[in-house]
Amino acid sequence: MTGLHIPGFPRIGAKRELKFALEHYWRGEADAEALLAVASQLRSRHWQLQQDAGLDYVSVNDFSLYDQVLDHACMFGLIPERFRDGSTDSELDNYFRMARGRAPSGEPVRALEMTKWFDTNYHYLAPELDNNTCPSLAPHKLLNEIEQARAEGFNPKPVLIGPVTLLWLSRGENRLNHLPALLEQYAALLAQLGAQSLEWVQIDEPILALDLPSQWQQALRTAYAALGAQSVKLLLTTYFGDLRDNLDLCLGLPVDGFHLDALRGGQEYIQAAKRIGEDQVLSVGIIDGRNIWKTDLNLALEHLRPLKRALGERLWISTSCSLLHVPVDLDRESKLDAEQRSWLAFATQKLSELRILALGLDGQGQEALATNAEAVAARRQSKRIHKPAVAARLNAITEADSRRESPYPTRALEQRNRLNLPLLPTTTIGSFPQTSEIRAARAAYRRGDLSKPEYEQRMLDEIQYCVKQQELLELDLLVHGEAERNDMVEYFGEQLEGYLTTTNGWVQSYGSRCVKPPVIFGDVQRPEPMTVRWSAYAQSLTDKPMKGMLTGPVTMLQWAFVRDDQPRSDTCRQIALALHDEVCDLETAGIAAIQIDEPALREGLPLRRGDWNAYLDWATESFRLSASGVADNCQIHTHMCYSEFNDIIEAVASLDADVITIETSRSNMALLDAFEAFAYPNEIGPGVYDIHSPNTPGVEEMVGLIEKAAQRIPADRLWVNPDCGLKTRQWPEVIPALERMVKATRILRSRL
Ligand code: GLN
Ligand code: ZN
Repeated sequence: MTGLHIPGFPRIGAKRELKFALEHYWRGEADAEALLAVASQLRSRHWQLQQDAGLDYVSVNDFSLYDQVLDHACMFGLIPERFRDGSTDSELDNYFRMARGRAPSGEPVRALEMTKWFDTNYHYLAPELDNNTCPSLAPHKLLNEIEQARAEGFNPKPVLIGPVTLLWLSRGENRLNHLPALLEQYAALLAQLGAQSLEWVQIDEPILALDLPSQWQQALRTAYAALGAQSVKLLLTTYFGDLRDNLDLCLGLPVDGFHLDALRGGQEYIQAAKRIGEDQVLSVGIIDGRNIWKTDLNLALEHLRPLKRALGERLWISTSCSLLHVPVDLDRESKLDAEQRSWLAFATQKLSELRILALGLDGQGQEALATNAEAVAARRQSKRIHKPAVAARLNAITEADSRRESPYPTRALEQRNRLNLPLLPTTTIGSFPQTSEIRAARAAYRRGDLSKPEYEQRMLDEIQYCVKQQELLELDLLVHGEAERNDMVEYFGEQLEGYLTTTNGWVQSYGSRCVKPPVIFGDVQRPEPMTVRWSAYAQSLTDKPMKGMLTGPVTMLQWAFVRDDQPRSDTCRQIALALHDEVCDLETAGIAAIQIDEPALREGLPLRRGDWNAYLDWATESFRLSASGVADNCQIHTHMCYSEFNDIIEAVASLDADVITIETSRSNMALLDAFEAFAYPNEIGPGVYDIHSPNTPGVEEMVGLIEKAAQRIPADRLWVNPDCGLKTRQWPEVIPALERMVKATRILRSRL
């Protein structure tokens, strides 16, 4: 037999039960007992799925009410002082205060910092370490879950984040100083687990896929020298990339087994199979935990069979990483046609794939393997996927296609003449409030209760209102407000060929928040203009210039499930060409400024520094491909939020956008340092107020920020705008905030 397990399962629930239970609890509509009951049911259900699929172990402690890193911070007593104010007796509420700054009981407080989990779209809460940090063990969550699993007849394999990864992900100076104290607690925990006669513990050290400073490599050696001697067996688990220079280090650690990502890790699992000790197991993560494609099981078996011969029962098979990053169940998709469905596997389906692989290794499961082979072949040949015209166009791209006609200084003059904007022009980032009326209209339209013409008329009315408000505010460059968009990626995904959208393909982003990434399955093509009528209508309502609004190719790629049968760079260029046509059509319709949002440019950076340039080359080329079809007097904007710019400023400059708007207000304009130091040549709109806060900023505050910006960037290349889109705000907040922004701008214009 071959050992079967997964590094983790999604916890949100096929119907997002956890999300709704959490939000009820936070709103005070349900008590803790109700929330915990839902959590317990979800765990049972997910274990049952794993057991039904024939997995040898079910993963325990992959469940979390909010975030697994926060769970570990709590388990090891890494709780900052401000959450020990005694303002609540409820441990649960204190947990939520750490996660989101507030809870039904206890005082509001600054939450832990939230940041991205490696190169995924999942966000974790960063533990904070300081001189007062004193690790201590509180393992009741983990122990309760183990007990629950056993009571319900499952064979639990607890999942832990390893101590070195936990420290790496934390905030604070000299974090490694905390390693010895933390290791004591880990050792105590493992001893407890061993005493419970648990066989295996999965211990995740995904930082092994990163460029590690030598003291962190040493920390891993120290840690596992201490932990590997415990009575429970450790499966050291890595994912999200290859281990490269860390492979030797990893395989040298005194543990009982290794899990490697066989998709992103290249051939390293084959090397590992040759090198592991005779009493060590190798778990090969050969089913993609980061994507939704059906696995080519016959191909996987070809790779696995020699390993099976070499390792026998010491070969385990698994998904590449936790299934947290894929939706729960394909069977809940009612709108996909049979062909599309045959291409896909969500978390639940991936469990069945594992089972078929195990059967296949024993010479069984022929029927399932034959069906899989058919599906895989059908996808490879589908006419819906391959479009010769798209391939031909991609092949014909020349260097000139990603270059504007003239350099920025020439364009700037022409744009100035055409747009006739004042010094420090004011604008917004695109969206205006998505009101409950807008959302209700869209829901009614989706249900069929509102006809298409009626729905579209409502959106036009919203646009008219939005344009009117901006005129009253006397903003300089207007936007149509994006009323018609549910989401900046899905909206375009619904209109492009080669994309499909799901109805229930939710993936946890953080806490109760989920995203529903569209799926790029085939060659991308734009059957017809996507935004032109809305922007043209908006422009027809005003004499002020109207900014067209598009989502850029890198962001369209980054926030989707991407096809795995060609390089991401090719897919990105295809999207770029579709957007190129949209940009040209907007220009033809008389739109003089077009914004191409790329908030995800930085997110796409590979985990290893050495891979950055290759990515940035095709990513920035794709942006320029989409932006370069227009005349010099058409002003191209881009927007990026939550980005550090220091280490990618050259790439950002190479986008050659005429104007870039960025998030800066929270950093007090510190993010501009990178632009100043680089002598960034084009125009910049550093956000002057934080749209994520419900508080309206004061005029003086904004004057101060703009002045600060003007010290770094010449005023004739500065714009004034909020940090990001306004879709999550209410009109009564937006109007006064923008009024003050305009006022602050006027004050400065008179001073400069
Ligand atoms: N144009 C988009 C908006 O205003 C940009 C959103 C974003 O940067 N995430 O909503
Ligand atoms: Zn933004």
